[in-house]
Parts: sequence; structure tokens; C-alpha cells
Amino acid sequence: MISTEGKLYIVATPIGNLADITLRSLEVLRQVDLIAAEDTRHCRRLLSHHGIDTPVTALHEHNEKAKAASLIAQLQQGTTIALVSDAGTPLINDPGFPLVSAAYQAGIVVSPIPGPCAITAALSAAGFSTNRFVFEGFPPRTESARKHFFEALLDESRTIVFYESSHRLEKCLADLRKVFPPQRRLVIAKELTKIHERFIHATAGSALEIFHQNPALKRGEFVILLEGAPLPAPENLAAKHLRTLHLLLAECPLKTAVSLAEKITGARKKTLYQAALEWQKNRTEKN
Ligand code: SAM
Repeated sequence: MISTEGKLYIVATPIGNLADITLRSLEVLRQVDLIAAEDTRHCRRLLSHHGIDTPVTALHEHNEKAKAASLIAQLQQGTTIALVSDAGTPLINDPGFPLVSAAYQAGIVVSPIPGPCAITAALSAAGFSTNRFVFEGFPPRTESARKHFFEALLDESRTIVFYESSHRLEKCLADLRKVFPPQRRLVIAKELTKIHERFIHATAGSALEIFHQNPALKRGEFVILLEGAPLPAPENLAAKHLRTLHLLLAECPLKTAVSLAEKITGARKKTLYQAALEWQKNRTEKN
């Protein structure tokens, strides 16, 4: 039995396939007093698919600031509420932040019921390094802002993940091609968990052409992943100093290894740190 007293549950729901909902999500949606949903009709379809008749109220980007106050008042009176969005994990580019933030300020317990999220689904199967990644939401809508957005990510060494809508996909890929080197690898994860799911492996130089040649591919929902930039070669680090650093990295945490290597070798900390990151990246890619 889940304790449901005056608590706010953040419940993940499917990103496509309706079967992708956890047992705990269903149990909470069944037991709470009220469900705050981004789209009440969409939510009721999901609930009726699972035979759940909990009352539903709307909480979307246009009313969430105003609505948060009344939901907080209900939570304070002992009502238990589940927050759901149209797809995936609430608050991840979806409504919910004002409510969760107000709940913490009011001392209300907030509990996540984890499940689908397009970011992690895409990352898990794209074949890029996942130990470190950055999520950038949706790129800006105008061409100049989008180019600045990509320019700021050019030297990012972590895997870059972002969302894009089908009607801006081509413009986005065109701008991406203007900024990134043509050989930079990217993956477009399309229609995850649905019938037309595909992982399109391409490069910054080739991706747009793939969609020009096959316009049917443009329909659907997309997550775009870009391989991180190679880390810059460590400057002026003598081979013996590099070896000292690698031996230390094998034995101690990165920061300690860099700090000890600095004392032992006298090399610049920044250079040692870059070399340590490179070593760490190579090691995680081998594993
Ligand atoms: N909260 C959601 C989550 O946890 O992933 C994201 C909501 S955001 C408003 C919607 C965007 O997520 C879509 O435009 C698309 O970029 C991505 N997305 C959602 N479902 C997807 C799917 N099944 N396949 C690919 N991308 C998806």
C-alpha cells in the first residue's frame, strides 16, 4: 500500500507505446484523490485504457502558475495529487516546475514515480557515450539564435541531446550543418517506442540530405544526439609526466590525481586536467 497523505507524486507516462507504464505509476494514478494533467482528454484516454477513474484537472503551460496555488491549498488539506504530462516525465520540457517549486516551499512531500523519458530512451540506444551528456531542450526557433546556440556547443565534449519538432527538423539540420564539422556524427531518434521507431545514424554533413531524399521520414517526434567534440590534445605534456598522471589516475580520483601530478611533475594544472579528462573519456569508451 502506497502512503498517499497530502503528497504530490510526479508520475511518468508513456512516450508512445501505452504499455510503457510502470506498475507503481498505475497504482499511484488509481489511489490518488486527483490527477493534474497537461491535457485532460489525453490523460483520460490513458486512464480508461487501464480502467482508472480518478478525477482529472488541467495543469498546462498557460495556467500552471495560477493553478499551482489552488493545488497547494488542496495538498495542505490532505489531498493527494499526481502530476502527469502528455508524454514521458513531467517537468522535462513539460509543465510542472511552478507546482513542484511551490510544493517544496510549502513543505509538501514530492515523490517521483519514474518511467519513460525521451532523453534516456534515445541515449540508451543511440550508441554514443552516455557517461556524461548535456540536454539542451528545444533549440531556438529563429535561424540566427539557433546558429548561436550551436556555436556555443561546438567544443562541448559531452554527448549533446536535444528535442526538435518535425516542422523545424530540416531548418535545424541545415543550421547544424553550417556550424559543426561535416564528419561530426549524429543520431536522430525518431518515434521512440512506436511503430515507426528508427535510429538514423548520420553526420552533420549528411543528415539533411537523408530527409530530402525520404520526405516520409520527416513525420513524427525526434530526439537529436550529437557526438561530443574530441577533447583538445594536451599541450606540452612530456611523455613521462603523462605517464605519471596515468599511473595516478589508475589509483585515485581524478581531482586528487591531477593535484598530485601537479606537485610531482610541476606541469600546468590546466594541461594535466585536460589530459586526465582525455584519459577518462578513452577509458569509458573502451569499457
Ligand atoms: N516530458 C517528455 C519526456 O520525458 O521526454 C518530453 C516532452 S517535450 C514537450 C516533447 C518532445 O520530446 C518531442 O517534441 C520530441 O522531441 C521528444 N519526444 C517525446 N516523445 C518522443 C518519442 N516517442 N520519440 C522521439 N522523441 C520524442
